[in-house]
Order: sequence, then C-alpha cells, then structure tokens
Amino acid sequence: MSLIVAKFGGTSVASPERIKNVAKRLAAMRDAGDQVVAVVSAMGKTTDELMGLAAAVNANPPARELDRLLSTGEQVSMTLLALALEAMGYPAISFTGRQAGIETNGTHNKAKIVKVHNERILKALDEGRIPVVAGFQGIDANGDITTLGRGGSDTTAVAVAWGIGADVCEINSDVDGVYTTDPRVCPRARKLDAVSYDEMLELSSVGSGVLQSRAVEFAKKWGVVIHSRSAFSDKEGTYVKEESPVEQAVITGIAHDTSEMKVTIRHVPDTTGVAAKVFSALAGNMVNMDMIIQNTSLDGATDISFTCPASDLPRAKEALAGVMDEIGAAGIDVDEDVAKVSLVGTGMKSTPGVSAKAFRTMGENNINILAISTSPIRLSMVIEAHEAQRAVQVLHTAFDLDADSVFEETQLSAEEIADKMKKGR
Ligand code: ADP
Ligand code: ASP
Ligand code: MG
Repeated sequence: MSLIVAKFGGTSVASPERIKNVAKRLAAMRDAGDQVVAVVSAMGKTTDELMGLAAAVNANPPARELDRLLSTGEQVSMTLLALALEAMGYPAISFTGRQAGIETNGTHNKAKIVKVHNERILKALDEGRIPVVAGFQGIDANGDITTLGRGGSDTTAVAVAWGIGADVCEINSDVDGVYTTDPRVCPRARKLDAVSYDEMLELSSVGSGVLQSRAVEFAKKWGVVIHSRSAFSDKEGTYVKEESPVEQAVITGIAHDTSEMKVTIRHVPDTTGVAAKVFSALAGNMVNMDMIIQNTSLDGATDISFTCPASDLPRAKEALAGVMDEIGAAGIDVDEDVAKVSLVGTGMKSTPGVSAKAFRTMGENNINILAISTSPIRLSMVIEAHEAQRAVQVLHTAFDLDADSVFEETQLSAEEIADKMKKGR
C-alpha cells in the first residue's frame, strides 16, 4: 500500500466530465489498496477569467484582494471533485488551503509555504476518506488568504506530499510526462523516463511550463519524488528525483520563454561606477534582471542591455528614469519581441563544445543571437520571438533529441491546444 498525493491541473478538471474522470482515477487508486490525497487546480481558464474580472473593476488590484478572489477558483473544483467522489460511493472531504493547514509567508500573489499542518488530512485518511485539497493557496500569519504564483498547485501538491510523508507526488496533466522539449512546439520531442532535480529546476526556471519551478525547488529540498504523468491514461510518466537515469545525452532538454524583454540603455558614458548606479537602481525597484550585455565602448560611451520579465517594465522604467540624467545616457529602447531559448543537461559539465555547436546551429539557420548566458548545466540565448519555435526545433535535431514518432494529442480540444500554445509564450 502506498500513500500518494495526486494533483490534477486545470485542463484535467475543466468540465464536469473531466472531474468525473479524475474521481474514477482516484477511486481506482483506492480500489488498488493505496491511500490517496487529491490536490486540484481551478477549472480550465478560471484563474485567467478571475484576473480579467479584477482588472475590469480595478486596473491595479491590491494583492490581498486579488488573492482572495483567485483562491475561489480552486475552491470550486475541490468541492465538485469531492461531490463526484461521494456520488460514486467514495467518502471524500474537501479542504481549502487554510483547512488543509497550508501556512505561508505574507507575500501576496507569490507566497512561500512555510509549514504544513497535516492533522486534518491525516485524520481524514484515517477515517477512510479521500481528502481533496484546493491547490495554489494558503493562509498567512494574519489569517489572510495568499496564493502561490501561477502554476502554484504543483507546489501545494509537493508540500502536502512532504507534510504527510507520501511515497510519491503525482502531477497529472494533459501531457504524459516531461519531454525533451514542449511536444506542442516540437512534435518530435521525446518523453523522458527520469530527470534529476537539478535539471528539472533549470528547465522549469527557463520556461518549461510542465512543472512549476518552485515545486521542483521544494521537492529537491525535501526529497519528494515527483511523478509527472497524464491525467487521461495509466501510462508511466517521468520521475523527477535525485539521480537522473543512465542518461547518455549531453543535453537533457530544451525550453523557451517569451515572457522576457530586452532593455537597452543608449550611449552610457564609459566611466567607473555607472553600471553600479544603473543596476542598483533596478535592483532597488525589484526588477529581476537576467542577462546583462555591455557593448564595447566607442567615443567614450557604450550601450548597456539587460533582460528581465516583461511584467517588470513599469518598475524598470521608473528605476531608470531616476538615474538617466545623473549618468548622462541618451535614452532607453525596449524590445518585448524576444525569446530566451535554453539548453539544459548535466552532461554539459563534462562535454566541451556544446556552446560552439549551439551557436553554429543558430548561424546555419540564420537565427540571430542577441544575448547569451550560461550556468554549469545550462546555455541560454536570447533571440527574436518569432524565431523561438524554429530555434527549439533545429537545436532539438542538432543535439540528437528527436524521437522516431511524433507527439499525438488525445484529449484536448483545438481551442485548449491553442490556449496551451499561447500560455507563457
Ligand atoms: P496543468 O494545467 O495540468 O498544470 P500546464 O499547462 O501547467 O498543465 O503544464 C502542461 C503543459 O506544459 C503541456 O500542455 C505542455 O504544452 C507544456 N510543456 C512545456 N514544456 C514541456 C516539456 N518539456 N514536457 C512536457 N510538457 C511541456
Ligand atoms: N489556478 C492557478 C493558475 O492557473 C494555479 C494552478 O493552476 O496551478 O495558475
Ligand atoms: Mg501547471
């Protein structure tokens, strides 16, 4: 008998039929003798719709109120799933984040879980019920509802798995595991049997939407084994755990992200202390810079570029406005039509020539590289956004990642697929 936490994402609970399908899967796990706790996301696009409602009445909604509103999405799906289970004769009990004992810090919209009070979930399991927990939410020390950032139900699931000492945390989604790259962007993507925490963390943090990076961070810290698999089939998925398998490939996966922008500060006088002033101002205004490029100096002045999340634009502009006159720069240019494409693999540490091969591949395909950054197991390149899909595909082929077969959609409607393609891209 295993103790399993099973999380189901928004697409997997998008309709009453799909909720019944999830209930059947949970029932089958119980019938097989396992104990199971479900964690659910909000149905379909509910979270986006709630954000739209908030924006319609307030262009800049206070974070506390927004969290209060967004948390209701998961509360609908958790209740419907409990009702579906009860209707099938399986005793269930739904819990909001607070009722499930998810305690967070007070950072609204991207709160961190600080503690899981597991008593109510364990009691429900003891009573033979299936606990159904609302993902994405918790409660802070003031008793206010917080949310964990987009995709945060993954983190709820991992935290609950850790909190109750589960054997495995299943993340059930509309894909049957972690692929070498998003199979909707590159149909020749190959499903991986296992990925190490470090590789998954890099992949998630550079745009691989299949698992929230914070969930992977949490899993790595506390040794929670994640099984990323399909909500619609019993096929084995991908295990995310300490050791990667006997993986021979130099590159494990490729991710891309179009949510960043590139800012160039023009004609910055090339004098000591200027970069410090610029980047202190940006950091002081909570702009999350990623890559920084300083061009060679001409006539005693240089252009400085950096990339950061596009959502940081207002704060970046505000910070730069405060120092432009002081440093004597000519102005700023903002390019939002950029994408970051990243290669990830622990094999990079011991294999020279990965960068050269990646740059050559981009060159041969006429894809211009605007900026580069690296970590010991990652190489990222900023390119024009419209080239992102092609870049992923040519790199996938160049690094021998292509599968023999192509990815086939089984369950999603054309509209859902289109939405998935837009998401985070
Ligand atoms: P959920 O709503 O279940 O949380 P998400 O949309 O957050 O699902 O995550 C699943 C999506 O992640 C897939 O539909 C797929 O398009 C995308 N994806 C991105 N990168 C990968 C990858 N490397 N492997 C599998 N799926 C990926
Ligand atoms: N419903 C939230 C979102 O759309 C959380 C989640 O799905 O994990 O981001
Ligand atoms: Mg998700």
